[in-house]
Amino acid sequence: MTLYGKTALITGASRGLGEAIALACAAEGCSVAVNYVEEAGHDNAAEAEAVVTALQATGVDALALPADVTDQQQVDDMVAAAIAHFGHLDILINNAGIFRDKTIKNLDKSDWDLVLAVNLTGAYNAMHAVINHMRERETGRIISISSVIGQSGNIGQANYAASKAGIIGLTKSVAREVARRNITVNAVAPGFIDAGMTKTLDDEVVQAVLPQIPMARLGRAEDIAAAVVFLASDSAAYITGQVLAVNGGLYM
Ligand code: NAP
Repeated sequence: MTLYGKTALITGASRGLGEAIALACAAEGCSVAVNYVEEAGHDNAAEAEAVVTALQATGVDALALPADVTDQQQVDDMVAAAIAHFGHLDILINNAGIFRDKTIKNLDKSDWDLVLAVNLTGAYNAMHAVINHMRERETGRIISISSVIGQSGNIGQANYAASKAGIIGLTKSVAREVARRNITVNAVAPGFIDAGMTKTLDDEVVQAVLPQIPMARLGRAEDIAAAVVFLASDSAAYITGQVLAVNGGLYM
């Protein structure tokens, strides 16, 4: 068990890749705080509690913590609650993300602001909230989910691509700042994964992407979770400021 006795906070972990990452961490002995966002008309709390139950069934400690990652006070309170519950926090995984795809001529300021707020400012808020705790303990792992789109760009995804490229700059800068404190900061850049938000894409879009993937298949949520677990483990102790692409060769 590579994460035995560790504790992790995963944003947006009630479904999709976040859920898969939570289960993979628990399988390695890691206790997990499952963040979700309370949304009108959607029982996200029930989804998060179902993930918590599945995690607890593996023998680890787990709890659900509501917070909108765009709200700095809510994120500060969530991090404080996770530390109070577990006693310490070893791993932060910035996974929460959204997309609002439109070409630039139709991309309203509100769609720009919202995607940047969740995908990039959300990661800043969580990093800022955990960093003093990790600095004091002189240990920590911060892993943020970027995207192949942040590396290559894509038509209709200027806001999403900018947010995911921003994650890479944020990661490299903070990695330099805290390296001496034994805190590593890395990003994982998934390609097209057969889970989460990709499930909402039209089949035509998926069929157009497939020929561009050298491995000729979409990725699995477990492919991403395995990369995150590796970066969180002691095996990755000397890896920082890196972007680990998990994309079947889509972008090299
Ligand atoms: P997903 O199923 O849509 O899950 C997104 C998660 O983000 C949900 O748990 C959602 O929480 C959470 N979230 C959204 N807004 C939030 C907010 N304001 N505060 C807190 N949480 C919020 O998507 P996914 O595919 O699993 O995506 C996970 C991450 O992987 C994202 O960062 C995404 O950009 C990245 N990614 C995915 C793919 C892919 O192919 N799937 C590829 C590259 C990168 P609720 O459930 O509570 O609404």
